[in-house]
Amino acid sequence: MTIYLDHNASAPLRPEALAAMGEALSACGNPSSVHAPGRAARARLETARRTIASLMTARAGDVIFTSGGTEANNLAIAAARAAGARRIIHAAFEHDAVTAPAAASGLPVEIWPVLGTGVVDMAWLEARLARQDSGGERLLVALMAANNETGVIQPVAEAGRLVREAGHLFHVDAVQIAGKAAFDFAGSLAHFAALSAHKCGGPMGVGALIAACDAGVSAQILGGGQESYRRAGTQNLPGIAGFAAALEAALSDASEPARIAAIRDRLEARLSDARAGVTIWGAQAPRLPGTSCLSAPGWMSEIQVIAMDLAGFAVSAGAACASGKVRRSKVLDAMGAGQAHAQSALRVSFGWSSTMDEAEAFAAAYLDARSRALPRAAVAV
Ligand code: PLP
Repeated sequence: MTIYLDHNASAPLRPEALAAMGEALSACGNPSSVHAPGRAARARLETARRTIASLMTARAGDVIFTSGGTEANNLAIAAARAAGARRIIHAAFEHDAVTAPAAASGLPVEIWPVLGTGVVDMAWLEARLARQDSGGERLLVALMAANNETGVIQPVAEAGRLVREAGHLFHVDAVQIAGKAAFDFAGSLAHFAALSAHKCGGPMGVGALIAACDAGVSAQILGGGQESYRRAGTQNLPGIAGFAAALEAALSDASEPARIAAIRDRLEARLSDARAGVTIWGAQAPRLPGTSCLSAPGWMSEIQVIAMDLAGFAVSAGAACASGKVRRSKVLDAMGAGQAHAQSALRVSFGWSSTMDEAEAFAAAYLDARSRALPRAAVAV
């Protein structure tokens, strides 16, 4: 049986989410209907909304359910444009779900550099916003709360303060952090934040945009008046119920992050001890507990993924794109790691279902595959 170590791509469904989805699926009723089953469905929907809002320190009315993190990011960028943003600044390592709608928005886009630690360059932002003061053009600044490849947690509250003080709009892609580490929407001062259920043990195809009360959102998907006219279409109620249950379960056990971090640290200790020429990225900065980003120059990412798959482990090259092809890691590129590292990046991501034995087994299989893939001289770096 495959050992699944790819929680940042999609976490296994939590039992709590499955139970909540089963209940919602077996009840009938459209949340927009006025009869009793409709009202019961509406009550289930609003309970889920309140749960998610309170776990993210947002107001229930600020939560707009979407088909996932990608749609939420698209909606935020469209809303910022409608609110007068005339230029977008986003971090160099943002996910395609931010960079593609930013590029398609027709607005000029500037790239916010990232330091070698995997953290965005805050001095750059401060200088850039000071320069903007004289121009008067409204900006949208976008920063992910935690990076999908390295797990490095970004200083969103500090960035939010600077962006707000300068009178601009701030968007946080919180898809990877939600349910894995604390995310405080109110404290981030963000106008918008994107969430996705399947990264924390909920189902795929459901997420939310949190839009602060001072940030208007006009629907991009037009039709009925669902989600207070901000996103038309009958809500995916079973998915939303599963999303709320997963997030609640993820954040209810205060000891879970430390347990998962210990598993990740064991893997990294095994790989560093063995002097296998493996570099671990982002370890000097605060990280999500379960993410480990490795590189092994000379051993291409896609070859590593296939070798580990054959050995019975599911892991990703830095980021998988939808076609299933492997690209060189743009995150390591942004960190200035150089081509040899960016082409040999591997992401191992643990989560709620992971065990210490899995980390041990992966480390042994990885070192074995590496020693067979490379000549001895290259391994003993
Ligand atoms: N943002 C980040 C940082 C992600 O890692 C992902 C998924 O990989 C997304 C957005 C897209 O989320 P979804 O798969 O729910 O569309």
